[in-house]
Amino acid sequence: MATPLDLARLEHAIQHEGGLSRRLFLAYAASISSLPLLSQRAGAAPGTPSFDSDPFQLGVASGDPDENSVVLWTRLAPAPLERAGGMKPQNVEVRWEIAADESMRRVLKRGSQVATPELAHSIHAEVNGLEPDRWYWYRFHAGDAVSTIGRTRTLPLAASMPSRLQFAFASCQHYETGLYTAYQHMAEEDLDLVFHLGDYIYERGGEAGRVRRHAGNKCYSLHDYRTRIAQYRSDPFLHGMHARCPWVVTWDDHEVENNYANDRSEIEDMDPAKFLVQRANAYQAYYEMMPLRNSSLPRGPHMNLYRSFTFGQLANFLVLDGRQYRSDQADHDHPGEISKACLNPRQTMLGSIQLKWVENTLSHSTGRWNVLAQQVMMATVAAKHKDIRRYGRDNWCGYLGERNKLMSFIHDHQVPNAVVLTGDIHCNIVNDLRIDDLRIESPIAAAEFVGTSISSDGDGGQAQDRMKQLMADYPGVRYFNAERGYVRCTVTPERWQSDYRTIPYVSKPGAPIKTRTSFVLEPGQSGVKTA
Ligand code: FE
Ligand code: CA
Repeated sequence: MATPLDLARLEHAIQHEGGLSRRLFLAYAASISSLPLLSQRAGAAPGTPSFDSDPFQLGVASGDPDENSVVLWTRLAPAPLERAGGMKPQNVEVRWEIAADESMRRVLKRGSQVATPELAHSIHAEVNGLEPDRWYWYRFHAGDAVSTIGRTRTLPLAASMPSRLQFAFASCQHYETGLYTAYQHMAEEDLDLVFHLGDYIYERGGEAGRVRRHAGNKCYSLHDYRTRIAQYRSDPFLHGMHARCPWVVTWDDHEVENNYANDRSEIEDMDPAKFLVQRANAYQAYYEMMPLRNSSLPRGPHMNLYRSFTFGQLANFLVLDGRQYRSDQADHDHPGEISKACLNPRQTMLGSIQLKWVENTLSHSTGRWNVLAQQVMMATVAAKHKDIRRYGRDNWCGYLGERNKLMSFIHDHQVPNAVVLTGDIHCNIVNDLRIDDLRIESPIAAAEFVGTSISSDGDGGQAQDRMKQLMADYPGVRYFNAERGYVRCTVTPERWQSDYRTIPYVSKPGAPIKTRTSFVLEPGQSGVKTA
């Protein structure tokens, strides 16, 4: 049941949190016929469902844990690629249970939530009252149907000093250009958490002659985005990995559209009010498929995704949203040397409210390691084309004033052991980040680990010549590689180690995995070292 829209409340929320102007908000509101205020609470009483095929084909997931709670996710979809996932437009009761053992014999808690058609029959159950720093198993029931069993965990007590955390981060999983063999291997790792840094889906229509093919055309409508993300999640290696441990997700551009910036589509003449309708559709489909808390429930075209996690006193994670609040790319038609527009203090990647939150969270952090889990590369580095350097306008180079200010903040406030995790560019890169990367005498403020794609850009390669060129041009660049895979990080109070786990191909199944290289950090020491 759609709750009648409280326009005034929505407007306040979007202007306050989302930073849209009143003019644009009114144009957006006028451009849509009705706007349901989404709610996980149901109106009509749920019916007793019966299913012709398994309603749990999209698997189970968990995410956004804290000391004593975690989100358990599933979505009823007996026919994932059909309209409404093959569900009738009625409410359905879904029961969950969480247990102390993997055979679900010692069930500790049970509960239920109503799956509504408004949220594509997705369930985001926030289970409270759990013990800190503990593994759990969970599953769902709907009618006679039972889901597979997922495994999840809570975070350690904020005041404790955990001896070890092991997590992986991943990004960029174009369904058409490769298989998810990397996730098949990731499921064999001993991980506490997975971070996904964006490009979880790609929005363009299906193309023939690739490894796999997108169903449908380019995404605009809610149905388009729902179908696309369901197709991705139908992959057993992807939903298998979601069932292994809790995930913490953030998005980049392709969850909506290539290189979008706030209310600006890549399509230059698209009316921002119209683009916000597309963005609202994309954000809603994303929320529906992700193990996110109720605090991320979208309101119109706005969705709260930046948030922080503390793994005891060991690590503090700030998960950033570099898309929703950013200024349009500076001089995007003229990529080249860093321009005045890139350095303009009003040119923002995070938006003023998020940036203040970042500074505030970092300056109060008591974590040994302080991690920014975010989308686009923070090192000021350009690829060379015919001896001309072209600094990317979509990454932090296009927002260089803000980037250097953030690095200065970290350095001046002596934020302990800052580490940046990055996706987006389908390459493995390791960087020392200086306050000003273009001046070698500028102090190092953080380390950056850029992780390659799961499958985007196809098989990839070692690209030794590109590594040599980049490292010759930029002393801050310590490593470059263009194979597929993910990064596994092992974090203790005394040491941070990033293992670059790579696979040689994604165009056919069965690629073996290896650790291509490892880099380490030591507390209080600036600069990455080879392991
Ligand atoms: Fe990508
Ligand atoms: Ca991207």
